[in-house]
Amino acid sequence: MGLKTGIEWTEATWNPVTGCTKVTTGCDHCYAALLAERRLRGLYLAKAPTRNTPESRADPFAVRLWPERLRAPLAWNEPRMVFVNSMSDLFHHDVPDDFVRRVFEVMLAAGRHVFQVLTKRPSRAARFWAKHAHVLGHEAVPPHIWIGTSVENQEVTYRVRHLADVPAQVRFLSCEPLLGPLDLNLDSIHWVIAGGESGAGFRAMHPDWARLVRDQCVAARVPFFFKQWGGLTPKAGGNRLDRRVWRQYPFLPGMPLDTRRPRPASRNRRAESASFSVAG
Ligand code: SF4
Repeated sequence: MGLKTGIEWTEATWNPVTGCTKVTTGCDHCYAALLAERRLRGLYLAKAPTRNTPESRADPFAVRLWPERLRAPLAWNEPRMVFVNSMSDLFHHDVPDDFVRRVFEVMLAAGRHVFQVLTKRPSRAARFWAKHAHVLGHEAVPPHIWIGTSVENQEVTYRVRHLADVPAQVRFLSCEPLLGPLDLNLDSIHWVIAGGESGAGFRAMHPDWARLVRDQCVAARVPFFFKQWGGLTPKAGGNRLDRRVWRQYPFLPGMPLDTRRPRPASRNRRAESASFSVAG
């Protein structure tokens, strides 16, 4: 099993890449950057970054590759949901295509798990897949590899369009930290996570912003996961939205293959919903 995690919507983390660069306001309080600066500084600085400059070598949050971690999921026998690169962004421009391909080769070989790849750079994800799909031997990203993007406010909803260009069978959105009201096009989306920010200096989430995302998911029959209200600590505000816990998934690892059919991403609202609710 990989590193245990307190992230509610997954079961394990796998970090064959670490380090990143902040891109939009959702990154302002990035916990990966914080951990790299504090707890993991010594470990990270002992490894050469992909960009071999004095600035990068002195930066614990510069992008670093960890090939020795690549095979870890192949050794985990029990099916798991695995958050890929919780300490980085797989599609950061400093991660070479060859290494992204090796990460995909492992995910493809470990089909018993569900891999959750979350990026703020979905346009590179689309370019990567268009270029490498033939080498990887799959026209579309198979259903056990979920590709998602972060949408913290309306300004970055262009990422939803870029994500739609990735021929994945499960595409998801992480609206966390949710920093404003969102008007979402969910036609190509199979799962949505929402949550408020936590930690010192957290930016409070208005309850109506969370309701708005939930209501759009319900209307579009897209599984919805409400992670937390946020506050000084992740659990400070709890995880009930209008007295209900929302923990829905497209499907879970270990489910028989013929039940792993997420709702078709289409405009056909009568399409059978395969959302799977584990609580509430
Ligand atoms: S993209 Fe993700 S990992 Fe990278 S800085 Fe932003 S929040 Fe952190």
